[in-house]
Amino acid sequence: MTTVLETRKLTKTFGGLVAVNGVSLSVNAGEAFAVIGPNGAGKSTFLNLLSGLMSPTDGEIFLNDTSVTNSPAHGLRRLGMARTFQNGRLFQRLTVLENVMAGGCPGEGARLIDVVLRRGFYDRWQDALRARAETALKKLDLWAMRDAEISQLPFGVQRNVEIARALAAEANIILLDEPAAGLNSGERVALVRALKDLKSEGLAVVLIEHDMSLVMAWAERIAVLNFGEKIAEGTPAEVRANPKVIEAYLGTEAVDA
Ligand code: ADP
Ligand code: MG
Repeated sequence: MTTVLETRKLTKTFGGLVAVNGVSLSVNAGEAFAVIGPNGAGKSTFLNLLSGLMSPTDGEIFLNDTSVTNSPAHGLRRLGMARTFQNGRLFQRLTVLENVMAGGCPGEGARLIDVVLRRGFYDRWQDALRARAETALKKLDLWAMRDAEISQLPFGVQRNVEIARALAAEANIILLDEPAAGLNSGERVALVRALKDLKSEGLAVVLIEHDMSLVMAWAERIAVLNFGEKIAEGTPAEVRANPKVIEAYLGTEAVDA
């Protein structure tokens, strides 16, 4: 198994509060991995650490065997990581295709000077970006909507556009922050289908999610956070039967998905 992402004793404190407390885990190539936990467990903070939006107080992060512990988000992009945001970050006045193309980043050597001086290089880059965007849209059943403006589309479709954008960025690992939040049941079905498509592409996916049923239906492995600590890790069946997990979720929601 190739490890794509690894954290070692990752820790983040805010003043006296330990939001993420010594969390170690690893995600393999092509794996469908979920991080769950009750509200306030540290899920979003953990994701922000992984994607370079926050620096850890302690511990280490490795991406494709490279230490990226204090790398900024754009550095992680170049090393193969893409992410979506809980509240979406699409350009509302641009089309679906334009948004997905905006996810691509220039390949090796695409410095500004190349873009300015070598028009041919820029054209080839644009063509490659467009081809990748078109492939991603077809894979995620969004092709028919490619020319629609984002602001005209339902929320659930917008979520899948974000996933297409991550796919077009040619990442080998994608982080998704609560993608099911605010979706209706039909949109959730489409989302689970999109997530399964990502898996069939051989991408590792780390899903941060509150919605148990979605996680249970999709994940191969689940890590459970509670008060910043990893209290369990295993298959959906193992996690669902774990007394510590049941206790952590008692009073908030049932683990019966
Ligand atoms: P989750 O996403 O699992 O609901 P969070 O990672 O958002 O949990 O929060 C974990 C804990 O860290 C909570 O107690 C939260 O109040 C606290 N926290 C999160 N972000 C900050 C911040 N920027 N400053 C201070 N405390 C924070
Ligand atoms: Mg959160």
